[in-house]
Amino acid sequence: MWKRENGKTVFTGGKEAFEDAANAARGCPLFVQDCEEECVADEAQSCYNCRYRRWTKNSFVCMKGAGQ
Ligand code: SF4
Repeated sequence: MWKRENGKTVFTGGKEAFEDAANAARGCPLFVQDCEEECVADEAQSCYNCRYRRWTKNSFVCMKGAGQ
């Protein structure tokens, strides 16, 4: 679900792997929900809704390096 690339932790599921993104966040103690207009997933606790994800062209990076 994750890979290291240029020192960053990149989610390998892309932008539409809602189930994987929710599972990843469920096990993450660092999850903080982003403001409402930045949330894209229905399930509140999802990496897609996390303040520490930064969107990239194809996916997102976990700025906390928490993804494993
Ligand atoms: S984006 Fe990173 S910090 Fe946020 S829930 Fe996912 S793994 Fe955790």
